[in-house]
Amino acid sequence: MVGNTSPGNIPGMYTRYPASSVALYNGATIAHYLVGGAGIILGYGSWIGLLIGLLYLTFALVQMYILMPMKVCPNCIYYRLKDSLCISGMNLFSRKLTPPGDVKSFSVRAKGALCPNNLYIAALAIPIIAMIPALIINFSVVVLILLLIVIGLLVFRIYFIFPKVACVHCRAKNICPNAKSMKLNTN
Ligand code: SF4
Repeated sequence: MVGNTSPGNIPGMYTRYPASSVALYNGATIAHYLVGGAGIILGYGSWIGLLIGLLYLTFALVQMYILMPMKVCPNCIYYRLKDSLCISGMNLFSRKLTPPGDVKSFSVRAKGALCPNNLYIAALAIPIIAMIPALIINFSVVVLILLLIVIGLLVFRIYFIFPKVACVHCRAKNICPNAKSMKLNTN
């Protein structure tokens, strides 16, 4: 899995992530949302479960695939790099959606209670937080399996995708608050 590191030739950093990395990142993200949403729907049952589950799915997909390319990507170095492809591929979508921002404002993604970073974390955590009380109220083996899958996807993201596939090769990692909080920056 070798990415394109030119131009700039910063060792180990990709200008274009391999398609397999982009597919893995988005596949794990969408799987997390879908399995989490299904767990909430089945966990609470009836119309209330359906309502909460669909609200969760809408929130998760919108914050990731609409708000992120509108608010975070315009300030990202991948937005401006010629022939680039970031780990999510959203730099390409963002260019069509909104004008360029300011790379110096990239860290704004982590500022404020409702900042994009917190929404991103909430979308990953909500199904886990929601399924635990559902299991206590009305235990179901299927919901337990879905909960374990979502926890597994979260662990996989934190311990494999971020450090081995995404952030390790990211040209933004030295100005990225996420990479800094995970100690994945090199500054
Ligand atoms: S360092 Fe990681 S979290 Fe930050 S922009 Fe790059 S891939 Fe995204």
